Amino acid sequence: MAFNEESGKIWMDGEFVDWKDAQVHVLSHAMHYGSSVFEGIRAYEIDGKSNIFRLKDHVHRLFNSAKIYKMEIPFTEDQICEAIKDTIKENNLTDCYIRPIVYRGYKELGVSPVNCPVCVTIAVWEWGAYLGEDALANGVNIGVSSWRKPAEGTFPLLAKAAANYMNSQLANLEAQDNGFDEALLLDVNGHIAEGPGENIFLIKDGKIYTPVLASSILEGITRDSIIKLATDLGYEVIEQPLPRDFLYIADEEFFAGSAAEVTPIRSMDHRVIGEGRRGPITKEIQDAFFDVIKGKTEDKYGWLFPVE
Ligand code: PMP
Repeated sequence: MAFNEESGKIWMDGEFVDWKDAQVHVLSHAMHYGSSVFEGIRAYEIDGKSNIFRLKDHVHRLFNSAKIYKMEIPFTEDQICEAIKDTIKENNLTDCYIRPIVYRGYKELGVSPVNCPVCVTIAVWEWGAYLGEDALANGVNIGVSSWRKPAEGTFPLLAKAAANYMNSQLANLEAQDNGFDEALLLDVNGHIAEGPGENIFLIKDGKIYTPVLASSILEGITRDSIIKLATDLGYEVIEQPLPRDFLYIADEEFFAGSAAEVTPIRSMDHRVIGEGRRGPITKEIQDAFFDVIKGKTEDKYGWLFPVE
C-alpha cells in the first residue's frame, strides 16, 4: 500500500501532528537496532460507525511485547485504547487499518537502550485486502521459504517486534522472486510455522489443524478468533507441531491475520490444495468471521469496540 494521500493527523506521544510532520530523528535507537514493537489492527464500518476489532487484546499484546523488551510505555493500556479511538475520529475514518508503534527514540547510540526514551505513535489509514480482493475469494499461491523462523532462545516471537520482520522480509522477497504470492516459513525443526505476517490453518478429513505457539509463531489475535469461531461451528481444532508434508496433503488451507483476514491458499509449492480454490470449510469460517466484523451477526464474543 503506497501512501498517496499524506493527509490527516498522526498521534505522537499524546499530541496530534500533521501526517507530513510526523518525523523521527535518523539517530533514533529504533532506526539502528530495531528496537520497536507494534500492532496491526483493523476497524470496520457498521451502520456508518467505526468498530475496532479486538482493540483491548491488541493493546494488551503491544504492552506484552514492550514488557519482553523492558520498554516502559509512558501511558496506560486504557490511554492507548482511547488514543486509538481519538485518532480514528480525528481522521474521520471508519473502515481503516491502525498502526500503533512503541520505539526507543533519540538520546544516544549504542546497543544498550536504557537511556533512550520510549516513544509511542499511532497512525490510521484506509487499507483494502492485504493480499488483494481476489485473494479473499480465489486464494493465493504459496511457496515454502528456504529461510526458517528464528529458533527458540534467539528472538522472542511472542513479541511483535519490528526486528522479527527482517526474517519475514527475507521470506517474502524470496517468494516474490519465485513467483508466489506469499511465503510460508518452517520453524528451526522443520515444523510448519506461519507466513511472514499471517498464521496458517490446515483442514484434513473435516478436522482443523494449526501450529502450536512453540513452533515459533506469533500468538495471532485472528488465530484465536478463528479457533473460537470454528469450535462454535462444531469443528475440532487441533493445535500441534505439524510436519511440512502436511502442507501438501491437506484438503484446505488458509492464512489468518489482521491484515490478511481469512485468505484461502490454493497452492503450496506448486501442489494444488483441494480443488485449487476456496474450500467449503474455509468458506464457512470466512463467512462466520466476516459476519461478525460486518455486524451481520451478534457480537457475542465482545470483539467490537465502537468509536463513539
Ligand atoms: N504472524 C505474524 C508474523 C504476523 O505478523 C501476524 C500479523 N500481526 C500474524 C501472525 C497474525 O496476527 P494477528 O491475527 O494478531 O494480526
